[in-house]
Amino acid sequence: MNIGEGRFSYRRNEHGTYDSICMRCFRTVARRYTENDLREDERAHICEYWLIPSSNGDNSQNV
Ligand SMILES: [Zn+2]
Repeated sequence: MNIGEGRFSYRRNEHGTYDSICMRCFRTVARRYTENDLREDERAHICEYWLIPSSNGDNSQNV
C-alpha cells in the first residue's frame, strides 16, 4: 500500500525538516527530519472531514 502517494504534500523547511500536509483536509500532519518518519504520522492521521466544507457528499474516498 502506498499510503502517502498523492495524498500528502511535502514541504521542505528552512531548518531541514519536512512538513507533510494532507491534501484532503489540508492539515499539517507531521513535521519530521526524514520522509520515512513522516510516513509514521501519515499512517496515524485521520482526516477531520467535519472541518471541510462539504461539496458533493462523495464518500468514495472513505478509508
Ligand atoms: Zn487529512
